[in-house]
Amino acid sequence: MYQIQEIKNISYTIIMITLSTILVSCQKEVQGNISDEISPYMDKFIEEGELRGLNIEINYNNLSASVSAISDSGVIGQCVSYSNEHQEILISEDFWNSATELNKEFLVFHELGHCILGRSHDDSTDNSGRCISIMNSGSSRCRDLYNSTSRSDFIDELFN
Ligand SMILES: [Zn+2]
Repeated sequence: MYQIQEIKNISYTIIMITLSTILVSCQKEVQGNISDEISPYMDKFIEEGELRGLNIEINYNNLSASVSAISDSGVIGQCVSYSNEHQEILISEDFWNSATELNKEFLVFHELGHCILGRSHDDSTDNSGRCISIMNSGSSRCRDLYNSTSRSDFIDELFN
């Protein structure tokens, strides 16, 4: 889960709080479906894994991903695991509509890090206090500088 605490300038400063949520629910019926907006970023995720020698297996029967309104205030992304092994990635449409390509990639990769790679949050930093992982919690324990230069190191770390 990824939350926006405050947006000062969406281009430069996105302060996010992340909550890790595993929600167990038997009531909600979810069909495997990946929305057209998210699909290219999932392909990219698989491709980046392949470039690093990994064969990323995604069971599309058990995964849905969509851009939609998220009711929890300030939450911009969620990976929800249901008791029937179905997983659902939800991305906030408010976030999505104003996000750059890199912002979108970061968030989808973060949620796939939870859902597909089974990773938890990691707020490790380098010597300058910068986050070294896409899986940072967004809780400002480290500064997130995911950009076109740092991107490949972040993705190395994601799949490592
Ligand atoms: Zn998270």
